[in-house]
Amino acid sequence: MKTKFQADENGYYGEFGGAYIPEILHRCVKELQDNYLKVLESEEFKQEFASLLRDYAGRPSPLYLAKRMSEKYGCKLYLKREDLNHTGAHKINNAIGQVLLARRMGKKRIIAETGAGQHGVATATVCALMNMECVVYMGKTDVERQRVNVEKMRMLGATVVPVTSGNMTLKDATNEAIRDWCRHPADTFYVIGSTVGPHPYPDMVARLQSVISAEIKSQLAEKEGRDYPDYLIACVGGGSNAAGTIYHYVNDERIRIVLAEAGGKGVETGMTAATIQLGKMGIIHGAKTYVIQNEDGQIEEPYSISAGLDYPGIGPMHANLAAQRRATVLAINDDEAIEAAFELTRLEGIIPALESAHALGALKKLRFRPEDVVVLTVSGRGDKDIETYLRYASELIHNN
Ligand SMILES: *Cc1c(COP(=O)(O)O)cnc(C)c1O
Repeated sequence: MKTKFQADENGYYGEFGGAYIPEILHRCVKELQDNYLKVLESEEFKQEFASLLRDYAGRPSPLYLAKRMSEKYGCKLYLKREDLNHTGAHKINNAIGQVLLARRMGKKRIIAETGAGQHGVATATVCALMNMECVVYMGKTDVERQRVNVEKMRMLGATVVPVTSGNMTLKDATNEAIRDWCRHPADTFYVIGSTVGPHPYPDMVARLQSVISAEIKSQLAEKEGRDYPDYLIACVGGGSNAAGTIYHYVNDERIRIVLAEAGGKGVETGMTAATIQLGKMGIIHGAKTYVIQNEDGQIEEPYSISAGLDYPGIGPMHANLAAQRRATVLAINDDEAIEAAFELTRLEGIIPALESAHALGALKKLRFRPEDVVVLTVSGRGDKDIETYLRYASELIHNN
């Protein structure tokens, strides 16, 4: 069933989305558009995808009733534990799905872009598993900042290409990946890591991540005797963990959807990644959506303490949810996210990823009734962020 919250056949969510691509990519993108639904809806794909999610990624991920956090916030708070997946986040769901699709389309070579390296690691992991050649483009600045992830990708057999154009970050890595795809249209599949990019990527990634809300439904039915919550909360970088969390609930108006974007040092400071609050309509990565840009339409470098959230655009699905007021969007600043991460760690013994900590930071800004059932997606684990957490903790001690 198509509704105003799902992509139409041209990949539009309201006025957002579409496929704004160079002529030379037209055939690649068209081939993908013509094949993705056929493959994703085939029984054979569904079975192989489901069995890898179960036996390799470790799904279903638990839906955990966080008792001490519930007490603190005056509601029934369930955490959807994507942090417990293989490789530590939800990104593996999408990587498995897209590489399976690539194989069925006869592609031999996988390319990807990565900022913090999380999507690169997930893709390199699945390529090792499926014996596919893997090339990951990464800005040189990010290669230096994210050394452990670069070493992991190399250990997994991927080639990591440092990109030296522009600011040498995610946007530049994306441009380089697109250039590669133009040069190798016949044998190469471009795995995008979030609900961004030209149609069909946003819809395809949302479908591959929709396993999250399918599981929430059956887990809530079992635990609560009703298969829907009152609130769904998730962080948004490009939007894939949020899309997975809300997918099967988006048309059900009984459920409030809360999206947490990265406020950085504050929405007014210029050091922010709060795209929904500050972005203007533009084109990024082949899709029409809100983009943080200057008066000349040049994309501005976003900032967030969390590398996974500092994307200057936002998935078209989420831009539309905000424009239609279906979702409430809150900007959570660096310090609010850090505080929320320490709180979850001390109350529940779970160290969340910095990205997920933004979703947790939204709890303080909402007013619940005691009977409200709230599901919050913990998109990833915090192992990769320990240095940032410790640096912040020692600053606190110094300042007091
Ligand atoms: C990449 C990442 C995100 C942000 O990406 P989305 O596509 O918005 O989900 C959030 N959390 C974690 C742990 C990530 O690795």
